[in-house]
Amino acid sequence: MSESTMTAEETVLLDRVQAPVGQGREILDAATRELLGRAPVQSVADLDAAIARARAAQPGWEAAGHEQRSALLLQAADALDANAEALARILSREQGKPLNGPNARFEVGACSAWLRTAASTVLEPEVVVDDGQVHAELHYRAIGVVGAIGPWNWPMMISIWQIAPSLRMGNTVVLKPSEYTPLSVLAMIAVLNEVLPADVLIPISGDREVGARLAAHPDIDKVMFTGSTATGRKIIQSSAGNLARLTLELGGNDAGIILPGTDPAAIAQDLFWGAFINTGQTCAALKRLYVHDSIYDQVVDELKKIAEQTPMGNGLDEANVLGPLQNKQQFDIVSRLVEDAKAQGGRIVTGGAPATELGELFYPVTLVADVGDGVALVDEEQFGPALPIIKYTDVEDAIASANRLDAGLGASVWGDRDQARTVAARIQSGTVWINSHGGVHPMIPFGGVKGSGYGLEFGVEGLKAVAVPQIING
Ligand code: NAD
Repeated sequence: MSESTMTAEETVLLDRVQAPVGQGREILDAATRELLGRAPVQSVADLDAAIARARAAQPGWEAAGHEQRSALLLQAADALDANAEALARILSREQGKPLNGPNARFEVGACSAWLRTAASTVLEPEVVVDDGQVHAELHYRAIGVVGAIGPWNWPMMISIWQIAPSLRMGNTVVLKPSEYTPLSVLAMIAVLNEVLPADVLIPISGDREVGARLAAHPDIDKVMFTGSTATGRKIIQSSAGNLARLTLELGGNDAGIILPGTDPAAIAQDLFWGAFINTGQTCAALKRLYVHDSIYDQVVDELKKIAEQTPMGNGLDEANVLGPLQNKQQFDIVSRLVEDAKAQGGRIVTGGAPATELGELFYPVTLVADVGDGVALVDEEQFGPALPIIKYTDVEDAIASANRLDAGLGASVWGDRDQARTVAARIQSGTVWINSHGGVHPMIPFGGVKGSGYGLEFGVEGLKAVAVPQIING
């Protein structure tokens, strides 16, 4: 059997979720562009029915209590583990990310890790005043029905980030995966639903209109949205109608600043993966790198060496750790931004043109040196494997550059830890990593500022975000 032949487990899982032959929308394998399966295309009427079912199931789920919900979430994590390889292979085919490296197997593993953490994290009531006369406590109750809307870059993991805390707190969830990567998410939800009670978690596979209706629906109490800033703005507008509470994880354009005195060879691997994890299609990837002129050439050289040794190709080949762009639209954005950077005088250090020999959507790791602020590759979110590397001489200028865009998801500072922490405190972003970039942890709150959105996910703060506070006074 060749490595790309579909395993029996994959076939069974896909057949459970895909539309019958002749129906649905065709989903292609991102690497080979062969037919992978057919995504169901559900309507707004289907969505309305799903929300009604989720609404009916919610009181019972809330009444089940934390212990029972946690036990079921732990069982759901076990079910994911039991299906991990088949899920990772479906994800690799649909999204394009390789099985190996910080990619498909890693993503499925993160899903069960986040489920387990949500199951075991406790959100205690807080005593806010107890002075002998007044006793007031702050409790956290379920909100009701959560509408979850996700992107195509980490489709399973981001869905779990929305599902796990919401269910843990006693909400039910209606989830719309991205129309680019529905099958992997539907397969994962089918596995979770082997364990969960009926109608507690309902997937709805549809296009952007279904997403818009979900966000605006009068019977949705909270929207967990991860996607572009443009869509996030529309969701804010719809929340004026239904007053849904929002968590918005939007686009990023993370800056990295390398301070003088830093050893380029020592940080090169972490820099590389900070920028190119998931072939650059990551919200909190390093998307523009500011390097002090004293070490600029060495940093560029070290990154070039790694780029040229890191295998890209079909994700089912165990050797590969970089894959294609997931879709043509994103491929075109990356191509356009690189062409524009060249026209603006950018120097292509490696890459710089589509890797057509690998397939239709492959773009090689591309390092663009000698560019500056104002070039589109720096100012816009590339969301792909092209990194602009910008030279600075005064760290004040690098800080100003990092802060000049309307994005604030993550950032990183590289160098002496104390100096780096001083710089970090002046950067406008939800997270600043020191000597690394992009690592997330299920107990460390994560979220953006400015155009990257608002609200926190993960840990205790993440549970609060899918709950409503209630004061018991007396
Ligand atoms: P997108 O905004 O195009 O789509 C995201 C989802 O929104 C899809 O499911 C889509 O169907 C749905 N949608 C589209 N129009 C809608 C509407 N009017 N109302 C409600 N839903 C609607 O984003 P994308 O291209 O899938 O994802 C890439 C973007 O997501 C990048 O900008 C990336 O930085 C961002 N992202 C952010 C995070 C984070 O945690 N901050 C994580 C991953 C991705």
